[in-house]
Amino acid sequence: MSTLADNLNTLAARIQRAAEAAGRAPASVKLLAVSKTKPASAVRELYAAGARDVGENYLQEALGKQAELTDLALTWHFIGPIQSNKTRAIAENFDWVHSVDRLKIAQRLSEQRPTDCEPLNICLQVNVSGEASKSGCSPDELPALVAAVQALPNVKLRGLMAIPEPTDDRAEQEQAFARLRLLLEQVDPNLDTLSMGMSHDLEAAIAQGATWVRIGTALFGARDYGAV
Ligand SMILES: *Cc1c(COP(=O)(O)O)cnc(C)c1O
Repeated sequence: MSTLADNLNTLAARIQRAAEAAGRAPASVKLLAVSKTKPASAVRELYAAGARDVGENYLQEALGKQAELTDLALTWHFIGPIQSNKTRAIAENFDWVHSVDRLKIAQRLSEQRPTDCEPLNICLQVNVSGEASKSGCSPDELPALVAAVQALPNVKLRGLMAIPEPTDDRAEQEQAFARLRLLLEQVDPNLDTLSMGMSHDLEAAIAQGATWVRIGTALFGARDYGAV
């Protein structure tokens, strides 16, 4: 059986190949290890192998792991759907939020961010797959949302995030990621973050400018939702 360290090395090589194929510096693509449904012990093992950024989708699950891993210098990213009643705990316990899709959530995160913390890094999640997907704001809504979020004091808008409809077609994958890249350039070329690409489509995402790839299965193996 391969260990998490083996998987991390294999993944780092995949990211490096994809970056080089795109004429990009491998260090310009950062790895977010998505540990939903996986135990704190797996995150600890991955940390020992060199991973530093962890992505979680479910608040209660994430808080439990954070409590077990306070001795590690991890950066925590929230990447799941956000209900209003969860914003305070997210603002207090995470460094990044990739899945902000409406102003009300951004306002609450800004109001509830503890004043002794750095501004919370956020990405706006955009629906680049049209009717096929329900999560994310529409591209039409994006310019106004960007302007409103940039006016908030305790969040720092870093860029955009998308989860395109899954497809095995490389050209379709790249089209969806290219839409997100073009939107970023249109709304504010100074933003530095494109959070896009998962285990099955990271090469296409890197070809289109991903700066965070969010990887679960290729690191930890298949998820067992029954175990949560
Ligand atoms: C689960 C999840 C991932 C990781 O997906 P894999 O296909 O397992 O790599 C990435 N991003 C988000 C938002 C997720 O929910």
